[in-house]
Amino acid sequence: MGQDHDISSAPGDNNALRKLTRQNITKDNKTQGVMEKSQWDLKHIRFTSGRLTRLDDFVAQYRISHTALLKEYEDSERVFRRKTYRVEKEIWKEKQQKKRGRSKPFPFKTSKKKSSVSEGPIGKQISPPQPRSSLEGDHENIVDIKSKTTATPQNQLTTLWKRRDTEVVVSVVPTQTKVTSFIIHHSELCTLRPHQWLNGEIIEALFHIAASELEIGNSIYILNHYMAGVILFGEKPQLARQKLSKINLNNYQGIVSFVNIDNVHWKFLFINAVNHTVYLVDPSRSPTEKDDSIHAAQKLSEYIQMRNTQQRKTEWQNIQWKGGVMTHPVQQDGSSCGVIVVLMAREIMKAFPNVPILQFGTSRKEMANERKMMALQILKASVFDEAENCSMCSLKKPTGCVHRFINWIQCDSCERWYHEKCLGMAKEDLEQARANRWSCILCS
Ligand SMILES: [Zn+2]
Ligand SMILES: [Zn+2]
Repeated sequence: MGQDHDISSAPGDNNALRKLTRQNITKDNKTQGVMEKSQWDLKHIRFTSGRLTRLDDFVAQYRISHTALLKEYEDSERVFRRKTYRVEKEIWKEKQQKKRGRSKPFPFKTSKKKSSVSEGPIGKQISPPQPRSSLEGDHENIVDIKSKTTATPQNQLTTLWKRRDTEVVVSVVPTQTKVTSFIIHHSELCTLRPHQWLNGEIIEALFHIAASELEIGNSIYILNHYMAGVILFGEKPQLARQKLSKINLNNYQGIVSFVNIDNVHWKFLFINAVNHTVYLVDPSRSPTEKDDSIHAAQKLSEYIQMRNTQQRKTEWQNIQWKGGVMTHPVQQDGSSCGVIVVLMAREIMKAFPNVPILQFGTSRKEMANERKMMALQILKASVFDEAENCSMCSLKKPTGCVHRFINWIQCDSCERWYHEKCLGMAKEDLEQARANRWSCILCS
């Protein structure tokens, strides 16, 4: 036994050690995955791209795809996290419903939007979410903050863009169906800053905002971009796992989505069930657009067929899908594909079921302007109440806790609230934060 395991010495420490080893293995696996993918990319670039003969070109190209890869990895992690929150939120909702009639977690705050400026010290704030509980909660401490200079979304955005990226929740955007929502973190919003490659969650949230603004109702379904990627580029087994079983395609006349290409580019996907055409649109000039669309149409047919067989459905049956090309503006820089994809989706939604000639400017100035407008839209569409929810996990309460023992802390600068638990601060730091003026990660 001892030879098989290098953790055989102290029996008392076995558990801790095993945990440690396991953690390392998981971490190693992840790293290995990224490494393997990177190496594959490396080969891919080396062998498929005859143009990259200079070492400098090669390195530059490699660097781009590597950064994008890491970004995508972070993205996927985030989606995983977001899903967990959704689940938690549901559980919490249930609990809340059972306890209807009780006071809300934050009955003490009446001011609406916060300003980013704070006049005087509002003192330390430790607030039990349920003031009626006996936990050291003195209401006197929690004064209504008289409305200070109300922060316009513009001001808010300027401040947010100035800060270095954090994981603070800055907006919660309801989806088309209003059943779930996108939790937008500060770092994601920041990808709308000029010259940055847009984050997938941001693009998708903007699709949903456009859908609700244009009141497209049930005509077009907004497909999650990971799903779209799997349908278009996934292998069969992968495809079979993506059931989308809750959606009845017969209720819709079209689908809009977008897909990630080689982790450096976004393409717009439009599936029009009225004219039986699939459009995979490349924001940058691409000679293969027609072929790409034909390929996408084939993949879609396969997916629908599989789905109908597997789930015994008759959705969008007997449609002969074809690939189409639409006239559209062309990307002029290296980073704004995501912005253009959003603009395309908006135009398509507006004209649906007709396929319009897409017309909008793509100059550097216009892109910068659009980015700003989009960021503002995300802030304006938010249903997140900073006065009632934790700006880290977006929830009113974490689940699984005895609710009387949840402490909150408020940032003295931006007035956002945080679960102490969500901050992961050491006990001493927390005590210090309570005793003095405290600034959250966004403000410090
Ligand atoms: Zn929290
Ligand atoms: Zn703050």
